[in-house]
Amino acid sequence: MSHLAAVRLSHFLPSLLLLGGGLVAAGLPQLSEFFISLFNVLPTLLLLLGGAFCLVYGRQRELFLLLVLYLGYFFLDIQLDHYRAEGRVRSDAALVFHLSSVLLPLLYGLYAAWQERTHLLQDLVARAAVLLAVGGVALALERRYPEALLQWLSVIRWPALHGEWMSLVQFAYPLFGLAFILLLVQYLRAPRPLHAAQLVGLFGLLWMLPNTFIVPHALHVMSCLIMLMLVAAVAHEAYQMAFRDELTGLPGRRALNERLQRLGRSYVIAMADVDHFKRFNDTHGHETGDQVLRLVASQLRKIGGGGKAYRYGGEEFTLVFPGKTLEECLPHLEQVRQAVEDYRLQLRDTVSRPRDDKQGRQRRGSAAATQVAVTLSMGVAERGAEQRSPEAVIKAADQALYGAKSAGRNCIRIHGQRHRGAVKLMGTGG
Ligand code: GH3
Ligand code: MG
Ligand code: MG
Repeated sequence: MSHLAAVRLSHFLPSLLLLGGGLVAAGLPQLSEFFISLFNVLPTLLLLLGGAFCLVYGRQRELFLLLVLYLGYFFLDIQLDHYRAEGRVRSDAALVFHLSSVLLPLLYGLYAAWQERTHLLQDLVARAAVLLAVGGVALALERRYPEALLQWLSVIRWPALHGEWMSLVQFAYPLFGLAFILLLVQYLRAPRPLHAAQLVGLFGLLWMLPNTFIVPHALHVMSCLIMLMLVAAVAHEAYQMAFRDELTGLPGRRALNERLQRLGRSYVIAMADVDHFKRFNDTHGHETGDQVLRLVASQLRKIGGGGKAYRYGGEEFTLVFPGKTLEECLPHLEQVRQAVEDYRLQLRDTVSRPRDDKQGRQRRGSAAATQVAVTLSMGVAERGAEQRSPEAVIKAADQALYGAKSAGRNCIRIHGQRHRGAVKLMGTGG
C-alpha cells in the first residue's frame, strides 16, 4: 500500500519528455547538419561523461546500462553507415541486427534489475564478467556458425503467437516482455526516478530496434535519449539525496536554506514541533516514532494557503508562506494542527505483540491499546520592521513556539502577541 502511494508521475516525467522528444526528432525527415554531427558524437560523449558520473556516485548498474546501450548503438551504427554509403546492407547485417534485437533487451533487463548489493569492486567485476561472457559467446558463435545462428534466430517458433507487426525476431518479444515485468515489479517495489527511467528506456529500445533501418535518425537519437534518461535519473536522485529528507520525504534543511535566500519582502514562517515526542519514543519505541514523524509530515505537506513544509530537523518542521500575511496563514496552520490532533495512528505492534497466538488474539481484541495520537505546537512570525531577515523571522517563530509550549502545547502562538494567549481559531485544542 505505502509503496503504491509512493508511485509518482514526477518519477516518469523527465524520461517521458525525453522519449517524446526523441520520437519527434528521430522521425524528422531532415535534421540540420549541426544536429546530425551532434547525434554522431553524443552517444560517445554520454558514455564517457555519464559513465564517469555513475562511477563517481558508485552507480555500477547505470554504468553498465550505458555500456550495453552504447555497444548496441556501435554495432548497429556500423551497419547503418554501410547501408547509407552503399545503398545496400552489409552481408552480415541480418545476423548483427537479429543478435542485437535479442541481446539488447536481455542485457538491458538483466543489468537494470540487478541490484547493487555487494562490494563495489566485486559488483563491477561480476557485471563485467557477465558482459564479457555473453558478448564473447555471441561473437564466437557469430564468427563460427553464422548460417546456423541466423537460422536459429530467425525461425518462427510459435506461429500462433506471431503478429504481423512483429518485425524483430520472435525471440526478442518474450525478452522484452520479461524485462518489462521485472522492471515494473522493481519500480512498484521501490518507486524511484531511476527505476522509472529504466522502464521508460525499455520502451525507447523497443521502438528503436525495429525502426533502425526505417526511421532516418532512430538509432542515433533514441540511443542518446535513453542514455540521457539514465544519466538524468542518476542526477535526479543525487539531487533528492541532497535536498530531501529521507524519512519523511519532505524537503530538508538544505532546501529550506535555499528557499530562505529567495523570499521577497513579505512572508510568514511557522515553526512546528511535536509535543512530548521524547516521551512518545520512550513509550512506543523509535520505530513507531519514525512512523509518527512520517504521518505528521504527510499532514504538513497538505498545508494550504501557498505554504510549503520542510523538515527542519528532529521532530521540528518549518512552514514557509511566501508573499503572505499572518491573517492569511493562520487558518491553514490551525487546520493542520487540528488534522494532526485528530489523526489516530493504528499501531502495527510487532514488537510487543505476544508470540503466543492465543494470547495475541486476545490482545488484538482490545483496539484501544493499538491507537496512538500526537499533537503539534506552533510558533508563527511575519517579516516586519523588527525582524527583517529570514533568520530573524525563524528565530521569532521559535520564540513563539516556546510560548506555545509554555501555554500548554497543542496550540499556535504568534510572535509579539504573547499576552493574547494561545490562538485557537477553530475547534478545540490544547
Ligand atoms: P516538547 O513537547 O517540549 O517538544 O518535548 P519533546 O519531548 O518533544 O522535546 P525534546 O526536544 O526533548 O525531544 C525531542 C525528541 O525527538 C528526542 C528524540 O529522541 C526525538 N527525535 C528526534 N528526531 C527523531 C527521529 O528522526 N525519529 C524519532 N523516532 N525520534 C526523533
Ligand atoms: Mg524539539
Ligand atoms: Mg517536541
